[in-house]
Amino acid sequence: MNKVILITGASSGIGKAGALKLIQEGYTVYAGARRMDRMQDLKDAGGFPVRLDVTSSEDIKSVVDNIIAKEGRIDVLWNNAGFGCYGAIDDVPLDDARRVFEVNLFSMAALIQMVVPHMRKVKSGTIINTSSMGGKVYVPLGGWYHGSKHAIEGFSDCLRLELKQFNIKVVILEPGAIGTEFNTVVEEGLKKYSDKSAYTGLYKKIVGNIRRGTTEGGASHPSVIADTVSKILKTKKPKTRYAAG
Ligand code: NDP
Repeated sequence: MNKVILITGASSGIGKAGALKLIQEGYTVYAGARRMDRMQDLKDAGGFPVRLDVTSSEDIKSVVDNIIAKEGRIDVLWNNAGFGCYGAIDDVPLDDARRVFEVNLFSMAALIQMVVPHMRKVKSGTIINTSSMGGKVYVPLGGWYHGSKHAIEGFSDCLRLELKQFNIKVVILEPGAIGTEFNTVVEEGLKKYSDKSAYTGLYKKIVGNIRRGTTEGGASHPSVIADTVSKILKTKKPKTRYAAG
C-alpha cells in the first residue's frame, strides 16, 4: 500500500525536491503551495499539486478533507512551508514579525490540528516539521526567523510526547545552508543596512557569511534534504531530529 503524503511549500526549493523524490519512489504525494504554476512538473511526474496557502484555514480544511475523501488517510504530513523576515529586532515592524510566526509556526499547528485526528484513528502516522539549523544556532539580524524556528523545536518535542501513545512519530528536520530562493530573500531583506546604517558593520559580516554559505558554492543542493526525508520514511524508529546539508 502506497503511503499518502502531504507536503507544504512544494512549489520550490526543498519542498519541491522532496516531493519529486518521493513521487519517484512511488509514494502518493499531495504537493501544496500557493503558486500552482510552479508545480506542473510535480503533476507530470505523477504527483497531485494542490492550492494551499498555509495561512488560510479554508485552504487547509479543503485540502485535508479532499485527501481523506479520496485516499481515506494521510500517512505523512511534512510541514515544510516557511520564510524569514530579516532585520534588527528594534527595526522590524511587528506585523511583519507576526507573519513569520503565522506561516512558520501557527500554520504548521493548524495543519497538525486537522490531520492528527485521522492519524489517531488508525494509530499510525509520521509528522515531519522543517525547522532549521537556525532553530539552534543564532545570528544577529535574524531574530524573528530564528525565534520561529526555535519555537518549532520546542513545539515539536512536546507534540512527540503527546502523540507517542498513538504511534504517531514526530521528526524535526534541521537543514543547514541549502541553495534555494530563500537565501536571496534573506539578502534582499537586509539590503537596507548595506550603507551608513547603525547595523552596517553587522550587515557586512552576515551577508558575507550568507554568500560564502550559499551563492559562492557552500550550499548543499535541496536533494540532500529530499534524501534525508526519504531515509526517515524508511526508518522504523526515526531519530527525534535530523540535521542535514
Ligand atoms: P523556498 O523559498 O524555495 O520555498 C519556500 C516554500 O514555502 C515555497 O514553496 C512557498 O510556496 C512556501 N510558502 C511560503 N509562504 C507560504 C504560505 N503562506 N503558504 C504556503 N506556502 C508558503 O525556500 P526553502 O526551500 O529553502 O525553504 C523550505 C523550508 O526550509 C522553510 O521552512 C525554510 O525555513 C527551511 N530552511 C531552509 C534553509 C535554506 O538554507 N534554504 C535552511 C534551513 C531551513 P508558495 O510561495 O508557492 O506558496
